[in-house]
Amino acid sequence: MMVRVSAPAKLNLTLDVLGVRADGYHEMKSVMQAVDLCDTVELTETAGGITLAIMGSDLVPDERNTAYKAAAAFLQYIHREEYGVHIDLHKHIPMQAGMAGGSADAAAVLVGMNALTGAGLSTETLCEIGAAVGADVPFCVAGGAAVASGIGTTLRAVAPLTDGWIVAAKPAVSVSTAEAYRAIDSAQGLPTPDHDGMCEAMAAGDLPRVGELLCNVFEDALALPAVTALLDEMRVCAPLGCRMTGSGSVVFALFPSEEEASRCAAMLQEKYTEVYICRPITGGAEVLI
Ligand code: ATP
Repeated sequence: MMVRVSAPAKLNLTLDVLGVRADGYHEMKSVMQAVDLCDTVELTETAGGITLAIMGSDLVPDERNTAYKAAAAFLQYIHREEYGVHIDLHKHIPMQAGMAGGSADAAAVLVGMNALTGAGLSTETLCEIGAAVGADVPFCVAGGAAVASGIGTTLRAVAPLTDGWIVAAKPAVSVSTAEAYRAIDSAQGLPTPDHDGMCEAMAAGDLPRVGELLCNVFEDALALPAVTALLDEMRVCAPLGCRMTGSGSVVFALFPSEEEASRCAAMLQEKYTEVYICRPITGGAEVLI
């Protein structure tokens, strides 16, 4: 038996870091939105063990991969460590990008394993298993839009965007999450995102206001010249707003129409290799077949 599962990426419409906890983890708050830029995960039942193949990336297919970790955590949870599964992972989401590519893959594996094994676990339980694999995994399981808090694993579902076209592009710089948090810890005078205002604007379908309220403290703390340059180029196309997502380095611009988004993407493609057009979605990782 085989299942194919979509693994959608996320964008941070707002993102704030509130401080460091005694255990070294950072407290954060963010309005997250799932988008239809997806990896694909195929799971096939085998005689025993977990095996992994990765297409579209030079990532090493070993037990450090989030897809592998999610499969192992799932089988441990249902006490079926003897179960065999082969994972084919097709990467499309840019990496070290702030789009939660690794977490999306883990979420898709959890959703797929639930279907493949017939375990019938609830979404809440899959989120609980996923939180141990990565902080963004619960959001990638749930999808849609949510206010994430704590270390990112506490979610409150909110009305997702149902409109708008997004151009996402990666400049020629990658940021490790650890490096980004170091920059935050030493930064001064960072902006304060209006999370409630963002949720209200989303619920009202007020795209111009959503664009105005996009805010990410990592963008200011890191102040990466390549990110600033790309944002300036996007602004030439007059988006409703544009910001970096997560700890970078992907930046995204919000447009009201496909035509405007396509024009911006075409302009950026002359200079950048990783340019994507995507749309907000109301779900998360989903079994396709
Ligand atoms: P986030 O938005 O959660 O910070 P990100 O886009 O910054 O995510 P990813 O690309 O998801 O970061 O992953 C960062 C690192 O994790 C990669 O450079 C890679 O070494 C490792 N990794 C492990 N599993 C995966 C996976 N399935 N896909 C991508 N990267 C993975």
